[in-house]
Amino acid sequence: MNILVINCGSSSLKFQLIDAETEAMIAKGLCERIGIDGSRLVYQPTGGEKEETVTEMPDHTRAIELVLEALTDEKTGVVKTLDEIGAVGHRIVHGGEKFAASTIITQEVVKAIEECNDLAPLHNPANLIGIEACRRLMPDTPMVAVFDTAFHQTMPQEAYLYGIPYEYYEKYRIRRYGFHGTSHSYVSERAAQVLGQPYEALKIIVCHLGNGASVSAVQNGRCVDTSMGLTPLEGLIMGTRSGDIDPAIIEFLAHKENLSIDEIMEILNKKSGVLGLSGNFSSDFRDLESACAEGKEEGVRAVKGFAYRVVKYIGAYAAAMNGVDAICFTAGLGENSPEVRNLICERLGYLGIALDQEQNHKRGEDLVISTPDSDTKVLVIPTNEELAIARQTYALVR
Ligand code: AMP
Repeated sequence: MNILVINCGSSSLKFQLIDAETEAMIAKGLCERIGIDGSRLVYQPTGGEKEETVTEMPDHTRAIELVLEALTDEKTGVVKTLDEIGAVGHRIVHGGEKFAASTIITQEVVKAIEECNDLAPLHNPANLIGIEACRRLMPDTPMVAVFDTAFHQTMPQEAYLYGIPYEYYEKYRIRRYGFHGTSHSYVSERAAQVLGQPYEALKIIVCHLGNGASVSAVQNGRCVDTSMGLTPLEGLIMGTRSGDIDPAIIEFLAHKENLSIDEIMEILNKKSGVLGLSGNFSSDFRDLESACAEGKEEGVRAVKGFAYRVVKYIGAYAAAMNGVDAICFTAGLGENSPEVRNLICERLGYLGIALDQEQNHKRGEDLVISTPDSDTKVLVIPTNEELAIARQTYALVR
């Protein structure tokens, strides 16, 4: 069965068509600038030429229509008719406390996702538009919602409650939810397979280090803590997001710079992280690492600050689980930067960690990068959220 995986943002849409039986990707692409001038579709069948088409996309329905036309195109398409798409898997950012697992999309599910909108006002409405557009164009095709938050729903209360009046949890469900759950789940399970040990018997820390970044503690196959919170702003220092700060900074800055709450949130989300720490030099770790190599102060302070925060979270989660068997690195930076992995692991000697530098400098595959006698294993596992969404969709619809 072919599964279409859709990741719908407010003005963009990424897609992949995956053969669920062989797990091969058949085609992928994205629509950019939906509803804005200069929209374009990028489409690439596996093994074929990448095509870019600049064309009007006034809304997401038109964007999905164009994706379906590309997939069924006589010359460059990969399926003859839409009947060859057995199901659609939608990435949904926030499932609140309502969804602890993926689910078949029904009218009730759409309503329940809508009820989570105020927890993710930038993301969930866009995800819902993607669902509606697909339902309009493929009314008889089953659809599944896969939530970024679902994997973290197993956290115990002591990990998910904040130290604020309990009535705010009762009234508004203010608590830690966590994100990147599909990636944390995929990577931790894969790590157990690579180590040849039962997932249910391991204590694993996953470091998803990309533009957005989070760490999670996975004990016996269940998430017990994670660094992102009510929103994806908490935790690590990210590309442009601040991660953890003293909440009193908000009031202090508001007075000093005469800023509104919205303006401060914009700074914390878009102008902070390594971008802010580097004095607006770059949010891209490739630039920052080059700056570090040249000994430039702005690069050094951003990369060191970033790595230090990861080290602190690893320590916290080793404590939370009373030990750790394996630490996994994934996502853009985690998969591609031996330097950042070194910076982090050189402070983990107390966990008996030693890296094999030859392994650490390999690319693009599941790797154990610690030495055979390292007490805690260190792995690089490329994440594949689309495949994980396709798997979960297939499991529910077949
Ligand atoms: P993601 O959000 O997972 O796509 O990751 C994006 C981040 O990964 C960006 O900060 C990139 O600079 C970083 N990244 C990607 N490739 C490399 C690389 N070869 N070396 C260092 N950082 C990289």
